[in-house]
Amino acid sequence: MVPGDPESLRLDDLAHPEPSPGDLLVATLMAGVCGTDHEILEGDIGRPAPGRDRLVLGHEALGRVMAAPEGSDFAPGDLVAPIVRRPDPVPCANCAVGEWDMCRNGRFTEAGIRGLDGYTAEELAFPAGFAVKVSPVLGHLGVLVEPASVVAKAWEHIIHVGSRGQWSADRVLVTGAGPIGLLATLFATRLSEEVHVLDRATDGPKPGLVGDLGAIYHSEGLDRIGDHYDVVLECTGDADLMMAVPAVTGSNGIVCLTGVADEGHQVVVNSGLARNLVLENRTVFGTVNSNRRHYEEAARVLALTDQTWLGRVVNRRIPLEDWKEAYTRHPDDVKTVIQFYDAPS
Ligand SMILES: [Zn+2]
Ligand SMILES: [Zn+2]
Repeated sequence: MVPGDPESLRLDDLAHPEPSPGDLLVATLMAGVCGTDHEILEGDIGRPAPGRDRLVLGHEALGRVMAAPEGSDFAPGDLVAPIVRRPDPVPCANCAVGEWDMCRNGRFTEAGIRGLDGYTAEELAFPAGFAVKVSPVLGHLGVLVEPASVVAKAWEHIIHVGSRGQWSADRVLVTGAGPIGLLATLFATRLSEEVHVLDRATDGPKPGLVGDLGAIYHSEGLDRIGDHYDVVLECTGDADLMMAVPAVTGSNGIVCLTGVADEGHQVVVNSGLARNLVLENRTVFGTVNSNRRHYEEAARVLALTDQTWLGRVVNRRIPLEDWKEAYTRHPDDVKTVIQFYDAPS
């Protein structure tokens, strides 16, 4: 597709990928669709590879290795999740040490998003260094490794910030029960006794998915769900909510923003908030993307999770021939995936 031109979205015949030395050749099994894909369709983000006018979408995928370079950690048959971001060519101090999620010069590329074709294709060739092994226990649910890696990074950084003092994530609030919010809740329940989730939905699959993790689901306003949270993980990208959540943290509270707000929206911020950020050592920070360490942690945690629950997160599976359906939103969607093979239902 051409970023910003939804009409240009189409299923196309591409040449078989030519693996370079060091590349894995992978057959795609599943590709996830998320808000980022919709932002590319709408033209808010998205850039084809140099010299091209169209971009192959897809940054969340699970595939099976068909051929692996000699001496790599991979063998034909392995399940893998490909990593989205590639380090910038300079490279900056962070990309030089594999911390490309913290790139300092912005010249990184991202498969299916920015300057590199994505993973919604039947066959993929990419460097073995950008593949992460997925346990057979997880199977096709390994399509969740990419979104879970974003959550693994968020939690790593929350704990890093928290370690500035005596602190623990005793009381956690997650705002938004989409795929990122639900995965953030899953990670939260591994660390915290008391996890609350706020979402607008009053029916559909979200309340049950939250409840089955042992977390408490709320659909009333932020002012009705208590305060003194040690951590708030904001996963809606709603600018008003992003600016409101610091007020429900306790002293030394941490707000981690993962949702991306629209530009140009005016938000009124109470000066009491600015005052209390200082007087109670509160921290608000943003996080995006993830590196290999986060993918590995995500794959590890997901393999330890109740697979039936994860299967309910991936609640809309669209066969490749019906691909268009995957890009239309439905009210009860949690995670929509395109299936590249005839999976048993
Ligand atoms: Zn995504
Ligand atoms: Zn960099």
